[in-house]
Amino acid sequence: MKKLAIVVPVYNEEEVLELFVNEVNNQTRNLPLEKIFYFVDDGSKDGTLEVLKRISSNKNIRYISFSRNFGKEAALLAGLKASEADFITVMDVDLQDPPEMLNEMYKKILDGYDIVGTRRVTRNGEPIIRSFFARIFYKLINKISSTEMVDGARDFRLMTRQVVDNLLLLRENNRFSKGLFSWVGFKVTYLEYENRERVAGHTSWNFLKLFRYSIDGIVNFSEVPLSIATYVGFLSFIVSIILSIFFGIKTVVLGDSVQGFPTLVILLLLLGGLQLLSLGIIGKYIAKIFLETKKRPNYIIKESNF
Ligand code: UDP
Ligand code: MG
Repeated sequence: MKKLAIVVPVYNEEEVLELFVNEVNNQTRNLPLEKIFYFVDDGSKDGTLEVLKRISSNKNIRYISFSRNFGKEAALLAGLKASEADFITVMDVDLQDPPEMLNEMYKKILDGYDIVGTRRVTRNGEPIIRSFFARIFYKLINKISSTEMVDGARDFRLMTRQVVDNLLLLRENNRFSKGLFSWVGFKVTYLEYENRERVAGHTSWNFLKLFRYSIDGIVNFSEVPLSIATYVGFLSFIVSIILSIFFGIKTVVLGDSVQGFPTLVILLLLLGGLQLLSLGIIGKYIAKIFLETKKRPNYIIKESNF
């Protein structure tokens, strides 16, 4: 029988772990695949690791535990690296990714797709502000990046071994999975579903974290902001030449006065602001280069049961 690896990053999720395993097993009992769970404990501070140790007496459950919280992206990477299977799926533990969809997803794989992703068509139950900014983010990133990012697409997806092997070849340290999943290409399709709320526990994302995450996505997958700095610089150069000529002639014709003072202040602020903005944008990219060149590992494994 072919194998299915279920990669699950977990951070402070003691309440839902067992529920998750039962639910997945239940909903996929007719799936003709041998299931192996790969839980990656992302430095949880609650009893997550203890629960994992207990349930991993079942030979289908494996776990890796990090030395601290390295973030979901790092946990995903560790899980994908560890997974040995013909098909690999990535799921959140909070049951926001409906396990019953795996059946349909596998059918699509048999139809010849390499990646079957999932897409939330509604964002019910999510703060309105969050949905609003998420929409803006997707509109923006798709304009300025050549890597397509699908609005509402979850990390929840089923992939063939070949796709995962190629994902692992991407050696960048700063990982933005939504982009990487799309960057590797292959034959992709998306299944749609209605948003679900967490069964228990709390989301570990707040608005600020999400905002930083979206900036990461943009900086990792688009060079457009860098050129914006150049364009804006060029534009303000042209404007300042025109204004210089205008004020030069005005002074010659109408004589000098201190009347130009407001213009001076406005120009000063405008140019100063533009320069700081451009420096900030460039700084973002330099920071990324800095991080990449350090070549630090994405995570440190403290223990695992395999
Ligand atoms: N998660 C993780 N490390 C973190 C934060 C979250 O491994 O630092 C896991 C979490 O346990 C869950 C998944 O990532 O399985 C999605 O997290 P969450 O439900 O908090 O995100 P949301 O669904 O609100 O986007
Ligand atoms: Mg969730």
